[in-house]
Amino acid sequence: MSAIMGRYGDDARMERRIHDPSAEGLTRDALVALQAQRLMHLLRKTWHENDFYREAWQKAKVTPDRIASIEDFRQRVPTVEKKDFIADQAKAPPFGLRHRHALGLGCPLVVANTSGTTGQGVEVHVQTAEEFRQTGHIYGFQIRWSGLARGDGVFLTLPVTMMAGGRCEFQGAVSSGLTVFPVGNYDAQKKLELIQRFRPRALFGTTSYFGHLAAVCPTDPSSLGIKVLLTGAEGSGFPWLERLEEAFGAKVYDRYGSTQSGNDHMFSCEHGIGTAARPGMLHNIDSMVLTEVIDPATGRHVQDGEAGEIVITSLYHTDTPLVRCRTRDRGVFRSHASCACGRPFSGVEVASISRLDDMKKVKGVNIWPQAVDDVVFADAIVDEYQVVLTSDDSHADVGTLRVMPKRPLSVEEIGGLRGHLAEAVQRKVGIQFLVDVLKPGALARSEYKARRWLDQRVHVR
Ligand SMILES: [Zn+2]
Repeated sequence: MSAIMGRYGDDARMERRIHDPSAEGLTRDALVALQAQRLMHLLRKTWHENDFYREAWQKAKVTPDRIASIEDFRQRVPTVEKKDFIADQAKAPPFGLRHRHALGLGCPLVVANTSGTTGQGVEVHVQTAEEFRQTGHIYGFQIRWSGLARGDGVFLTLPVTMMAGGRCEFQGAVSSGLTVFPVGNYDAQKKLELIQRFRPRALFGTTSYFGHLAAVCPTDPSSLGIKVLLTGAEGSGFPWLERLEEAFGAKVYDRYGSTQSGNDHMFSCEHGIGTAARPGMLHNIDSMVLTEVIDPATGRHVQDGEAGEIVITSLYHTDTPLVRCRTRDRGVFRSHASCACGRPFSGVEVASISRLDDMKKVKGVNIWPQAVDDVVFADAIVDEYQVVLTSDDSHADVGTLRVMPKRPLSVEEIGGLRGHLAEAVQRKVGIQFLVDVLKPGALARSEYKARRWLDQRVHVR
């Protein structure tokens, strides 16, 4: 740690940086008491106002008056997940019963959806503008902890779209008093030109994209003057985060959130990513979001240092509640005592987060293997296939579809199959794949679609 700090001359900035003393200054016991108080209010209000959750709780024979503690809550209140949201939207399109209360308030809303290319349906997540304003407060922790100050320049490399990612970072950076350059819609060369012209102190975006920017940068990226890299929005290995620090001569501050919570809520403190031997911690903002890390098989909360599924309850979304949402993200739980900073927040270990299900994120787009399966096996000539994800020289994602036909094909047939599959896959998942046609017998057959995917990208390795 001290080696990293020394290397980037940040020793002077290593003082404990406090964003909200009313949360960061609490003892652990006082913080848990605050969570319990907010949780009980949320449960009572949700029971009265929200048909979606009330129905689910009635089915599980739970009423809020039977929940007296966070422990009761964990044991009795049922979890919800993507398929429940999709079913709810099918029942009451387009928003679902869970948003009916908020829609009736006659107040401005922030509407986000998940990318539509998943093969598993689009989730719609709404929050009121009043709730969304809290996004600024939450990002304030990350921005303060990373040493950024009012007026510092930050390049937002994510585009602002209907997806939550991008819009919430924009809100967070603007609310925190940064000078925000929204460059997400420009290509990498244009972004680099603008960085050279405006010399921002920080980049705010997705982890793998910063590696791509470094790789296509015509000069040494450390000459760009970037001091802070706000990474996140996808799982990555520790060596990749270290490489980013080396390449830019900057410090990485990572973050975690989920589409369903509509916000990031776990952040690196001033200790950053830590070391490979002892990675740092993403501190969950426990005063705002109740995060559990559970064993998906038993539902038991895991111990410090154990991996489990991240389950989220927002304590500040009281008009558009999110209660015990299973994220399908896996992470290593860290208790509040794990970090040298001494904050009372629990969290997960840096670089420990990955997907529990088989969703892949390629070129920033979520892809379920089922979607590719559907397209490829719709062609009767296809016997088996494999998808290989790699990184090109510029660290951009490359997807290659390797297809094994049932019989030997002529040159013309191979050309036709390649063209047809490339177009059909692009139409279905929204991104381009290279297509290789192999000889019969070249691939072993697989029963499991997830095993057809080989991920050899540099940021995942
Ligand atoms: Zn810390």
